[in-house]
Amino acid sequence: MISSPTNPQKIPFNIPYLTGHEEAYVLQALRARAHCGNGAFGTRCINLMKQKYGFGEVFLTPSCSAAMEMGTLLVGIGPGDEVILPSYTFSSTANAVVLQGGTPVFCEVEAGTMNMDVKELKKCITPKTKMIIPIDYAGIPCEIEAINEIAKKHNLVVMVDAAQSFHSFYKGKPCGTLSDLAAFSFHESKNITCGEGGALIVNRPEWIERAKFLQEKGTDRKLVLDGVKSKYHWVDKGSSYLLADILAAMLLAQIEKAQEIVEKREKVTNIYRKITTLFEKKGYIQTPVHSKDIAVNHHAFFVIFDKPENRTTFIAKLKGKNVAAYIGYEPLHSSPMGQTYGYKAEDLPKTETLASCLVRLPFYTELTDNGLDYCAAQVEETIASLYG
Ligand SMILES: *Cc1c(COP(=O)(O)O)cnc(C)c1O
Repeated sequence: MISSPTNPQKIPFNIPYLTGHEEAYVLQALRARAHCGNGAFGTRCINLMKQKYGFGEVFLTPSCSAAMEMGTLLVGIGPGDEVILPSYTFSSTANAVVLQGGTPVFCEVEAGTMNMDVKELKKCITPKTKMIIPIDYAGIPCEIEAINEIAKKHNLVVMVDAAQSFHSFYKGKPCGTLSDLAAFSFHESKNITCGEGGALIVNRPEWIERAKFLQEKGTDRKLVLDGVKSKYHWVDKGSSYLLADILAAMLLAQIEKAQEIVEKREKVTNIYRKITTLFEKKGYIQTPVHSKDIAVNHHAFFVIFDKPENRTTFIAKLKGKNVAAYIGYEPLHSSPMGQTYGYKAEDLPKTETLASCLVRLPFYTELTDNGLDYCAAQVEETIASLYG
């Protein structure tokens, strides 16, 4: 087993977790002398994910970014089509639209979750709208029932950017099962990781066959692998949206332990809650909120300060104590690329204000075992110094 690199008095923002089974699986995959995508370990990952979570169909991809590109390709997004997404997200959500020639339309977010504000979503819909891509920030599921309802009324596709919400549950149902499409990330910054990796979940049965072609460079190779055909052909457009089997081997070790990983991470949330409650009650800061019927995967914990200057001071002071906190996203609408779509910062004032005050605290699975007390004490002391 590879030892932990953690020093209990020096807390990085993230350390990718290892369950202990990765090495054996990766060695087995290496020795199998069959390393490309849709191989033995990939198939085991897919079957386990379907069995544990009830996903429609699973396509393992090189990243969540690639999974979302495959998703917009599958939906047929193109020039003239508008796709609504929250401004508060990673560039990948917007790139999945832009790379197909579609137009991103940015929606406001709400404070408790930093997820898409459903009341604002309705205002973004035009006759050109084709699709909605909400995200599950910090592993907290978006308001998917309300979003699906709006989508149904206007005949829109919903693909959730579920990069952060693997093993989160909305009213008892796993994230990834609740929308037409969903995309997970297994990047090293996420709860479950193989370094770089992702998955596209396709819950519309009539879309599954074509998704197989898009994933395998526009060929029907998957039908040959499935024993349906003996020779494969170029049948559609597509790209190489495949995860190499050595990475799938690492991923399998992690998916098998998803529950244990979430349980370890819950302890980090609990201690952060404990030390922030008093300051929140006094109205100085805000922390994540969700209803009781949501079970989160404890991906992240954020603090929204009352003003940007307090955020800046907080991050700098913590850095001096060897604790790495991190600002969240720069809103996409006011980013250099967002401005080329005609947006100005003032267009989404709520998102701008929240984003300028938000900090993400260090959060990784091993923090529970090493350094959590030190980290929490420094965070508490630093917040207290701002409002003392
Ligand atoms: C991490 C993340 C991505 C990118 O995931 P990759 O697997 O690196 O492509 C996209 N969207 C969100 C919301 C993320 O958190």
